[in-house]
Amino acid sequence: MMYPIVWRQIVRQFETHGWEHSMSKLSERLAQISEGAISPCPMGRIIQSLDKETSEALVRALEGRAATRIIHHELQSAGIRIGRDSVASHRNGWCRCGKTTEQIKENGGKKS
Ligand SMILES: [Zn+2]
Repeated sequence: MMYPIVWRQIVRQFETHGWEHSMSKLSERLAQISEGAISPCPMGRIIQSLDKETSEALVRALEGRAATRIIHHELQSAGIRIGRDSVASHRNGWCRCGKTTEQIKENGGKKS
């Protein structure tokens, strides 16, 4: 006679745990969405992943006058997999990083 009661408790615990678990999953997913919105584009992520010296050289190359085609070729030669469009859009500020920078600039401009 004790068994069904224990079983029901287990089921209730499972249901409670399951619900809490799915809720935490939702909050995790929502957090990931907002993180994704502010996280850098593929090119920005590559810049962040490189060591200081290399990333600085890459940023200088991107800000300089070198052809996107050449920068893209050098990245590919180094085994970095990225599309030329991603390089170009980051360079031109069309990517997520560019938008974030613009928004910061705009906010800074309004404040000063
Ligand atoms: Zn970018």
